[in-house]
Amino acid sequence: MKPTELKVKASYINQYQRHFPLINKDTIINPEDIQKEGSIIHLVEPNGKFIAKGYYGKQNKGLGWVLSDKQHENIDFSFFKKKISNAIDKRKAFFQDENTNAFRIFNGEGDGIGGITIDYYDGYYVINWYSEGAYSFKETVIDVLDEIGEYKAIYEKKRFDTKGKYINDDDFVKGERGEFPIIVKENGMNYAVYLNDGAMVGIFLDQRNVRKIIRDKYAKGKNVLNTFSYTGAFSVAAALGGAKKTTSVDLAKRSKSKTIEQFSANGIDFEEQDIIVMDVFDYFKYANRKNLVFDLVILDPPSFARSKKRTFSTAKDYPSLIKDTIAITGKGGIIVASTNNASFSMKKFKGFIDKGFKDSKTKYKILEEFSLPSDFQVDRNFPQGNYLKVVILEKLSH
Ligand code: SAH
Repeated sequence: MKPTELKVKASYINQYQRHFPLINKDTIINPEDIQKEGSIIHLVEPNGKFIAKGYYGKQNKGLGWVLSDKQHENIDFSFFKKKISNAIDKRKAFFQDENTNAFRIFNGEGDGIGGITIDYYDGYYVINWYSEGAYSFKETVIDVLDEIGEYKAIYEKKRFDTKGKYINDDDFVKGERGEFPIIVKENGMNYAVYLNDGAMVGIFLDQRNVRKIIRDKYAKGKNVLNTFSYTGAFSVAAALGGAKKTTSVDLAKRSKSKTIEQFSANGIDFEEQDIIVMDVFDYFKYANRKNLVFDLVILDPPSFARSKKRTFSTAKDYPSLIKDTIAITGKGGIIVASTNNASFSMKKFKGFIDKGFKDSKTKYKILEEFSLPSDFQVDRNFPQGNYLKVVILEKLSH
């Protein structure tokens, strides 16, 4: 089939010539000409001159992704094999690390094919498909994984139904079904993961370096509060780093049993830790009433959250989250402020933090910053892909 030609508006030609990977609807003169998810499209100048080729795969981000600037490069098995093999070569150090066996081996546009990521969990692959178009390459990607080497099984997450929600059918693709949880290793810590139980498997791999620094540098002897704690991965790191006590707060009921499981996987007595199922904003009020003071507070909210009482959006509410946190953090205490919201930059995020401190008339010092770890390769022409922003700071005085 002849590729559909999408004409790029004059003012955006330069952007695509400089290898911007995301095909935005606003930049195209004739978006209505696109036909089928997964079809190959050519970006051309209004006069028909070739710029780049890509595929149609509609995500909230855009219409699809650029794959090549070579007009005659075929998007076939050998194309995918080249991209995936290169990506795996770049993760050599991870494959050789005896203390870590869970990491990302293919990170979408960062590894040359937007809309597809592949994670590795101790011999199991989990493929995330972010559009129907991306999913249309399923057979090819699996053929490539088959050829590259042995694995235990492949699972997949389809993250593209029409309501923007995760499609929850069987995630198993092929191989030998796992018995979950499997216990994976990360810098010597154990984490229980479930590959066949919804979009979230129990651990967010992109926070690996933050968990490590919490364990190695910030936790010893501390009274730790982990908010939006999910399965308590940060709490485990803090406890293993010698925290005096950890308190994990999440409003999802199942976070409690999941957190108990993570502690237990590491030989930590969960009864010596607090695991609280509660809205974080109610917990702040409770902690204030009880005059609780923490030495280390971890903030890692979802970009958006709707609970019975309120909606929370990082882009709007982070300053007040910081303000609430300051009120229960001791002088000299450490705050780990994190967000995975791709819609604003690190600079803007620091602005939110600064506003929270100014509103509290409190001084602080930034100690260090983190973004995505190296297995989450970022396309240098698409810095927006580096969504993770973590600022570790010290509260100085009132
Ligand atoms: N920090 C976690 C990941 C957080 S995922 C980690 O490192 O693994 C976001 C979590 O926030 C979810 O578990 C969700 O249940 C929880 N959550 C969302 N809104 C909340 C609220 N208002 N109070 C408490 N938890 C909330």
